[in-house]
Amino acid sequence: MKCPVCKKDEFSSEEMGDGLAALRCDECQGHWLPSFVYWKWLSRRGHNAPEILGGADNPQPKSPPKGGRLCPDCGRILIKYRVKKGVPFTVDRCGNCAGLWLDQGEWAYLKKRNLHDDLDYIFTAVWQTRIRKEDSADAAAESLAKALGPADFKVAKKIRVWLDQHPLRSRILAYLTGSALCLALLVPSR
Ligand SMILES: [Zn+2]
Ligand SMILES: [Zn+2]
Repeated sequence: MKCPVCKKDEFSSEEMGDGLAALRCDECQGHWLPSFVYWKWLSRRGHNAPEILGGADNPQPKSPPKGGRLCPDCGRILIKYRVKKGVPFTVDRCGNCAGLWLDQGEWAYLKKRNLHDDLDYIFTAVWQTRIRKEDSADAAAESLAKALGPADFKVAKKIRVWLDQHPLRSRILAYLTGSALCLALLVPSR
């Protein structure tokens, strides 16, 4: 069994909290969680702790370079997954046996934000698509802000917040964009 980062083969068992036992590389202090160990822990735990937002005081793990890592159990390639917008690292998962690799400090970071019990979700297509959508929305906002300038962008943001919580949002939007078809559909029948 070789560490995906430093290729050493000395591991010790480490209690990660709530009875979860991971294997820790003695050299780089990264953690290996075989899939069945994590799933068993999740089902025994039986609840999902709500995420703690923000976390500015969280220590930012200094992850080593993540290229070309191999699974310590089956030798296949580890795939990097983003965790969430604002989380400064990716988590590795074996495409074959679904084991999880966390660099030093990553588990502690996830635990502080209660994301450590969401690792079963973050590898799903739904979760990953959501992260990409958030990225696109951020990029669109950034580009609009550049085009409009700070004052007009502030107005646009205000309108958006107002519109988003308005019960007649669709009708206002149709009015603003002047879509005749939408307007016809949205006029309440008499
Ligand atoms: Zn190592
Ligand atoms: Zn594997």
